[in-house]
Amino acid sequence: MNNVYYGKLIFELSQPGRVGYSLPKSAFEGYSLDDLSAESRRGAEVELPECDELTVARHYTNMSNNNFGVDTGFYPLGSCTMKYNPKINEEVAALPGFNIHPATPAALSQGALRLYDEVQKTLSEIAGLSRFTLNPYAGAHGELTGLMVIRTYHQQRGDTQRTKIIVPDSAHGTNPASAAVCGLQIVQVKSTPRGTVDVEDLKPLLGPDVAGMMMTNPNTLGIFETEIPEIARLVHECGGLMYYDGANLNPMLGVCRPGDMGFDVMHINLHKTFSTPHGGGGPGSGPVGVRQGLEHCLPNPQVVYNEETHLYELRTDEHSLGYVSGWLGNYAIIIRAYAYLLSLGRENIAMAGKLSVLNANYIKESLKDYFNLPIDGLCKHEFVFDGLREEYAGDHHASDHVTTLDVAKRLLDYGYHAPTIYFPLLFHEAMMIEPTETESRDTLDAFIAVMQQIAEEAKANPQMLKTAPHNTPIRRLDDVKAVKEPKFTYRSLQA
Ligand SMILES: *Cc1c(COP(=O)(O)O)cnc(C)c1O
Repeated sequence: MNNVYYGKLIFELSQPGRVGYSLPKSAFEGYSLDDLSAESRRGAEVELPECDELTVARHYTNMSNNNFGVDTGFYPLGSCTMKYNPKINEEVAALPGFNIHPATPAALSQGALRLYDEVQKTLSEIAGLSRFTLNPYAGAHGELTGLMVIRTYHQQRGDTQRTKIIVPDSAHGTNPASAAVCGLQIVQVKSTPRGTVDVEDLKPLLGPDVAGMMMTNPNTLGIFETEIPEIARLVHECGGLMYYDGANLNPMLGVCRPGDMGFDVMHINLHKTFSTPHGGGGPGSGPVGVRQGLEHCLPNPQVVYNEETHLYELRTDEHSLGYVSGWLGNYAIIIRAYAYLLSLGRENIAMAGKLSVLNANYIKESLKDYFNLPIDGLCKHEFVFDGLREEYAGDHHASDHVTTLDVAKRLLDYGYHAPTIYFPLLFHEAMMIEPTETESRDTLDAFIAVMQQIAEEAKANPQMLKTAPHNTPIRRLDDVKAVKEPKFTYRSLQA
């Protein structure tokens, strides 16, 4: 692009003495720098870019155009689900009535508390559980909260020897991390070649020291865990509780419910399943639900409707695990999820799960002649390829063997975000694709055509893929160097 502002750093556009503002008259007129103590005074001029307003506006607008986002194009990232941020969510979240201080007394925030309670109740019904809290700030935070519920439950029964938590080898990395933060000892259970939890491997791990087991369903490979009833029976029999990682709950929506499967505690990511913005590190929301009998363990405060006074109340329970967040979580995110739940309605929620499964299977079946599919058969909302098939990728040992990274980089040239790559760790060339229920048939067809085209290019001209991307403002980076020697400031770039 022939544009002087494009690809430049703001410091490179700086010209000494140029200004883009005029300051109001100083309120400190009449004072001199000498009135400041020596240690309050700056020793040298700060180095700031000096630019006129147009330069600043053009610089940042050009930079934002280099970003890829859900509003720019299709985004097949696996294990991340939601690729739709309805604009009405933003309008609703910005309504003045919701713009209240978090410390507003319950009596003056009945509408806000009612919304919170309705989301709790809707999630409870979707999940088949008794009660939800919306206080946790993210999926991992929900996991920690849920594990604290489990620990609190055991401790209150005086059962203090349960220090182990069983986690499948296919689990999302946050599962063992949250368990470690909770002070639990992680015991890994293996997967079968079909990608599901190996029940025979699980049996010897169970005993009186097991606090519970974490499961993700569909698991991180997009496979439905078929042995849940047996696994839940075994874990309950030894006195443990079942935890459900429902970060990506959409394939289950309206089809089946974790509570009915035998799970006791779970979390849901509103920012993956219910259309709230996702990416760039927040703000998220990881509501936690529990079955009947565990409600008192949930974090304080709880929002409860008082049937006698007809008012919503903030209640604290002395048997609670305590507080996990200030106030009631990321409230503005909860409003967005509420808007989405209402716009779907009961009938359409039931369709969301089925459509997400249909879309993923449509892509998988259309591309499996080009990419290795290590686990064949029906997937749920996502699936994993293990790199290009050999007839396209070339000889595994050759220097121009085309890898998953090369395919991902080439996708950028076609204006697509890459799928999740090299995760899960069970396959060497993993490429995890998740379209979700919100993408149209046209979008899926266009993506499939591009992936097929890339496979043909890999066969005809592997070097072109190995040097991709070719059309992006920044070409292929040295990933290792970028991690080991990151340069975050203009000065570090000069050095
Ligand atoms: C994303 C994800 C998490 C963690 O959620 P965060 O909000 O990123 O903390 C946990 N489990 C699974 C399966 C996930 O996909």
